[in-house]
Amino acid sequence: MPERTPERTTDRSLAEGLAAGLFLGLADWIASGVLRTPFALGLASLGLGLAVGAGGGLVGRVSGRAGLASGLVVAAGIALEGLSLASKSGGPSALADGPALLVLGLALAALPTASGRPPSAARAAWIWLAVAAVPAASLAGALLGLGSWGRAALGAAPLAVLLLERSAARASRGPRLAAALSILLLAAPVAWAERERARPAPAPSPTSTMAGSARPSIVLLVIDTLRADAPAPDGALAELARGGVSFRTALAPAPWTLPSTASLLTALYPSQHGALSAATPLPEDVTTLAELLRAQGYATGAFTGGAFVGRAHRLDQGFEVFDSSAERRFAPFRLHTPLVWRLAKNRYLPLRFLVRLVDEYRGLAGVLEHALPFAEAHRGAPQFLFLHTYQVHDYYLYDPDSDDAVLEARAPPSAAFAGRMSVHPSELLGASQADLDHFHALYQGRVRAVEALVPELVRSLGAAVGEDALWIVTADHGEGFDAALGRVHHGGRLHDDLLHVPLILRAPGRLPPGTRVDAPVRTLDVLPTVLELAGIPVPAGLSGVSLLPALRGEASYPAEAFAEEREHGLALTALRLGDEKLLAGPGGELRYDVARDPGETHPLPGPVPQALRQAFDGFAQRFPARALETGDLDAATLQHLRELGYVE
Ligand SMILES: [Zn+2]
Repeated sequence: MPERTPERTTDRSLAEGLAAGLFLGLADWIASGVLRTPFALGLASLGLGLAVGAGGGLVGRVSGRAGLASGLVVAAGIALEGLSLASKSGGPSALADGPALLVLGLALAALPTASGRPPSAARAAWIWLAVAAVPAASLAGALLGLGSWGRAALGAAPLAVLLLERSAARASRGPRLAAALSILLLAAPVAWAERERARPAPAPSPTSTMAGSARPSIVLLVIDTLRADAPAPDGALAELARGGVSFRTALAPAPWTLPSTASLLTALYPSQHGALSAATPLPEDVTTLAELLRAQGYATGAFTGGAFVGRAHRLDQGFEVFDSSAERRFAPFRLHTPLVWRLAKNRYLPLRFLVRLVDEYRGLAGVLEHALPFAEAHRGAPQFLFLHTYQVHDYYLYDPDSDDAVLEARAPPSAAFAGRMSVHPSELLGASQADLDHFHALYQGRVRAVEALVPELVRSLGAAVGEDALWIVTADHGEGFDAALGRVHHGGRLHDDLLHVPLILRAPGRLPPGTRVDAPVRTLDVLPTVLELAGIPVPAGLSGVSLLPALRGEASYPAEAFAEEREHGLALTALRLGDEKLLAGPGGELRYDVARDPGETHPLPGPVPQALRQAFDGFAQRFPARALETGDLDAATLQHLRELGYVE
């Protein structure tokens, strides 16, 4: 065997490092969907791979061990996966998190396993298999729905490949075959997801295109997390309200998305409909607004931001089309997010330019774009459009379109948040008031961005749904920004910064324009009000009431508004009765005069007045809670829950 010169070792080390790096970027691109991943992001993946590969090659050259280069690339791939895990977790000590440390350990273990074999086709195949195992492990973690510990453990997959190479025979076709097969395996999940997505929506039911119906179309726009005081006094929502009725004291029945949106769509209190937590979807036997309207011949389409407003929690009941992918551009991201994209948003070295370049988030503009073809396809027929956006909700996740102007106009926040492109909501709980003011400014920027789109939305959808369409704009809950009182983010409490939301009802020819109602009403009342406006019988058994008699002056507005929070084992109940509000939980009761003390900072002394006490104590009896949905649980779990007294 001829002696190798140092020169040749150097070349080999760089070549091996660059090849391994290129493989890493390519494998990540394939796992994310080559056709669906934006080209800029694919190139960035290759660029990241090449940079990592060049680094590995140089270290291999300096150390005189050419085989080290590919081992270093594998180690860097595992370590970068760990960085992305750490970057997503909550507290400031994220790097010390167990999963991230485990990944770091795995990365170090990759180094001594690197082979020093001479280059050959088989060697190239082994390198491919080892680096492709990095995105493959990440993809498997997503498909299996694993938490961060499970994903960290899967990080051992590339090491297994490196160890296998050491024990394998030198001249074998096995690795080349396995490498070819691995490309198919990496590409398959995204291709499969694409096929599912491309399935045509079900054809409209024959009744929904029934001509000659006098029913008005209905557009329900839910701007998630929109506080009542957030829209500009002279903004597009105020303008919309001038054409109809503005309810200035509308109250949501729950402080977060799932229970509140389910209540809006069912006119039931949360414990009545049962969609109380991430683990309890809306039961099939609950009747939704979409089901009622579809039975009347309406075409029903939902275009939402997904998460809790999606099929998983069965809010799709009654919708012919339920599209929860409208706000984000890249559908395959739900399976495998390209490593370079996750790293771009990391908390340590955010790559704002890449996020700007790729522009993934669409927000309400995406919702409108997806809804418009549906609305136009059903022009002339009565239709119900349910539109929902997280654009305001996600103010702590960087979106260049909405946030850049705000960031440029403000001094940076404290070091904990400066330059960050994603913040875990739990971090907001410990933020200073100055930092919360920064996030509030971002939040208001999002509100302005949404409002700026409203005129176009009303114009373009309006042309399809008709002049006489009913328009409802509201929110599922508000948001807290008060560090001193510890009222930050949403959920887990029932103060009015979370329950008080906007409610606008526009029904040309059916409701007097320019009407302002100060009396408290509930988002629970939207469903019966809309049905009555559309001339559809209101079913019995609802907890909301039609507001039309009160608007006509024939009845008073609903006297009471309850709210509930049952998530995470909480048992909080609130009652607004007139100007008084009673908040009750395991810690006791607090009573406020919300007319004089809208911030709920000075609890009233003395015993709870009789009327308030009676109304409050009657809640469970008047609005009986349903047995929680347990259909997905196996017999053993059910038995266990029975023993614990959770199910009958
Ligand atoms: Zn929400």
